[in-house]
Amino acid sequence: MAGADQDQLFTPEPEAPTAERRLQELNLFVPEHLDLNIDSVFPRVQGWGWKNEMKQKVKLLNAAQQELSQMLFEGEEVIYIAKGIRYSFVEFYFMGLWASMINHTVFVLTNLRLIMLHTNGKGIPKKTFWMIYYSQIDKFKASWNGMINLKLKDGKKLAFSGFQKTDRKKLPDAFETALEGYRAAGFAPETSQSMENLCTYCKEAIPKNIYDCDDCGAKFWTPGQIAWRSFVFPSWGDFVMGHTTIAVLEMFGGVIAWLMFVVLLVDGINTNSAEKVTTAFIMLAIANGIDAAVTAHISRKGLHPRKGPNPIEASATE
Ligand SMILES: [Zn+2]
Repeated sequence: MAGADQDQLFTPEPEAPTAERRLQELNLFVPEHLDLNIDSVFPRVQGWGWKNEMKQKVKLLNAAQQELSQMLFEGEEVIYIAKGIRYSFVEFYFMGLWASMINHTVFVLTNLRLIMLHTNGKGIPKKTFWMIYYSQIDKFKASWNGMINLKLKDGKKLAFSGFQKTDRKKLPDAFETALEGYRAAGFAPETSQSMENLCTYCKEAIPKNIYDCDDCGAKFWTPGQIAWRSFVFPSWGDFVMGHTTIAVLEMFGGVIAWLMFVVLLVDGINTNSAEKVTTAFIMLAIANGIDAAVTAHISRKGLHPRKGPNPIEASATE
């Protein structure tokens, strides 16, 4: 064992590998034009499963790079990225596990704010984006069961689950660091609501209850427009929002509701029963009403594009 003793005497403590070196070893490339704090974006560079974790984060970064490069301000640095699922009691109550399909969310913590991207299950961004300045976060809590809860200044509460194990541990740390940084700098820009909607196309913030982008001319569906479509025919609203799988499932519900209505109505007319006719209308109103209410609730969470940017304004802002 003399050799081992000598090693201990003469070689310095083995240095922990840096994230930078690990990326090179794995031949992984992160988007060059994004300002990344490599060490905090990749919190684990050794131990069980580190390779897969690094690969996953690189995937998330590459998938989001185009959107992020449009969003990030000069000097804004990414300090963490992770994927979770936004939790909504109403949606889980009415849709069960299907609700998670439309709630995949990629979290990007920067030195200035939390950016959230609505994505598919693989973390590829869809069309709805948000941001929250740290000054708008009243309370941040990570619970034992992996839920992450945010309480915002304007009273809104957000809950997320479905993070990877490492993220459950490291995301709270990254949050704390970011919040401390904010407290030290006191960066508190004005906002129209705590969680601001970002334009699908130009990524500018669109104020609360506004459904047109001032900067690029894009137009978005209002919750009312979506709700009445779903009331007329369940699933229509979800098609409009691009939740195609959910919409197809709902379509069966919609067909059943309308069939039952027609059967009851015809029966009521044939048997001259005012009661049956009334029941038919009430049943349809309840079935489609619930669908419209849930769909409106979903639509209110973010912006859903109706019409792309105005070509003249879009080229003028470039
Ligand atoms: Zn825009």
